[in-house]
Amino acid sequence: MASIFSKIITGEIPSYKVAEDAHNFAFLDINPIARGHVLAVPKTETDYLFDIADDRLSDLILFSKRVAKAIKKAIPCKRIGIATVGLEVPHAHIHLIPINGIYDIDFNRPKLKLSPEEFREIAENIVQNL
Ligand code: AMP
Repeated sequence: MASIFSKIITGEIPSYKVAEDAHNFAFLDINPIARGHVLAVPKTETDYLFDIADDRLSDLILFSKRVAKAIKKAIPCKRIGIATVGLEVPHAHIHLIPINGIYDIDFNRPKLKLSPEEFREIAENIVQNL
């Protein structure tokens, strides 16, 4: 069965998309720990990030770099932190998270509650900075 992220990539499930290329897709995390928390996902479904073939993993990192630069311009922050967890969704992905300190990358923090309008605004702002 297709993962929830594969369904997002095909459009079967809606998302706040920020970027796409031939092999990768990026959208806002629906339970963000910071404004501008983005997931970068390879289109080909692989559970574990480090099982991805070298060329596709390189593509994903370079794609994440491009998206991270746009997030950094869109969201005031010191830098974009990255994390891979993968315990919830078995489709490899990279979390791109605007941070001002180590405390901003704590997944135990209460998730932000954003309105659809706020999600849309953040996504549009990132897209404009790509
Ligand atoms: P993990 O697999 O532990 O890296 O966590 C999966 C991440 O995917 C979590 O941060 C979720 O909030 C996020 N997530 C799950 N479903 C969706 C969705 N439909 N749209 C956007 N983000 C999602």
